[in-house]
Amino acid sequence: MAVQDLVDPFGRTIRDLRISVTDRCNFRCTYCMPEEGMQWVPRSEVLTFEEIERVARLFVERFGVDGIRLTGGEPTMRAHLPVLVSKLAALGVDMALTTNAATFRHHAHELREAGLRRVNISLDTLDREKFERMTRRDELVRVLDGIDAALEAGFAPVKINAVVQRGVNDDEIVALATFGRERGVEMRFIEFMPLDASGHWLHDDVVGQDEIVARLSEAFELDPVPARGAAPADRWRYGDADELAAKGRGGGAMVGVIPTVTKPFCGDCDRVRLTADGQFRTCLFETREFDVRDVLRSGGSDDDLAALIERAVGTKWAGHQIGQVTFVKPRRTMSQIGG
Ligand code: SAM
Ligand code: SF4
Repeated sequence: MAVQDLVDPFGRTIRDLRISVTDRCNFRCTYCMPEEGMQWVPRSEVLTFEEIERVARLFVERFGVDGIRLTGGEPTMRAHLPVLVSKLAALGVDMALTTNAATFRHHAHELREAGLRRVNISLDTLDREKFERMTRRDELVRVLDGIDAALEAGFAPVKINAVVQRGVNDDEIVALATFGRERGVEMRFIEFMPLDASGHWLHDDVVGQDEIVARLSEAFELDPVPARGAAPADRWRYGDADELAAKGRGGGAMVGVIPTVTKPFCGDCDRVRLTADGQFRTCLFETREFDVRDVLRSGGSDDDLAALIERAVGTKWAGHQIGQVTFVKPRRTMSQIGG
């Protein structure tokens, strides 16, 4: 069957599928989950590897999707994750994983062998006490070791994501960038989004891209890298990028910002999402979901699945409305949707 582009009403072609493999997590980051009381999706409602593979295959073979990212919750909490990775690697598309890396030392080698090439690791602070306050877990040492394990296992690139919150970790922007330069990993700062479980998000807590770049510019010479296309990050190259590369730290020669709130990139968005319980979403901030699991489990054909996906993509909106009176916070948090 010829590839048939999935194009939304605003002319954007869908190329990137984000798959959440679990809603469970070993951390409780304050900007993502409550300390207690998360209602986990019952295991019987979580998609099996066979179901995930079937949906992913349809996206790749019928709709020409060429990128898959595995996320969660914490994806490494899903038992036998390398089995899924090898099934998806066989589809031959670019595949990446987002993880908090607390247990990555145990998983890195097997995931790499299974065919995973790229990994994004979350790290919001280099201060152990602050790390414990932000994640409610005293795991900084193991996360730093997880980053080393990713590099040793040959993942490339390894990118580090930090959510920046005013008055919490915005004093560490330069320190985190320095860490990326020294370890040879690309540091990316994410604007704080209203997907926290507590619902305490305030616009004033967002440290916007301009401010982040201004702080970085006080410490480093930065040259903008043109046109990000559909990629969410704007990127800058350090003035001494060639010297970093010569020292074997070329992976840390760039720094990025994901400016979801202050400079939304919705106009170029090519992403769709599948939650761990098989709900299909066309945007992180959408309030509507389409029940892929029901089609899978009621004996639906690939044509039935494709019809549901096409119908859903036909509802993809122009963009989120964060900061406007019309914004409605999604019922589910980042960990439940799959960030
Ligand atoms: N557990 C994995 C991790 O933390 O990397 C993967 C899932 S997590 C939901 C994916 C990403 O979403 C992480 O980089 C995390 O920092 C980010 N995230 C979670 N809540 C957020 C929020 N309210 N605003 C911005 N980013 C957020
Ligand atoms: Fe877990 Fe990732 Fe959410 Fe932190 S951001 S609570 S590590 S899912």
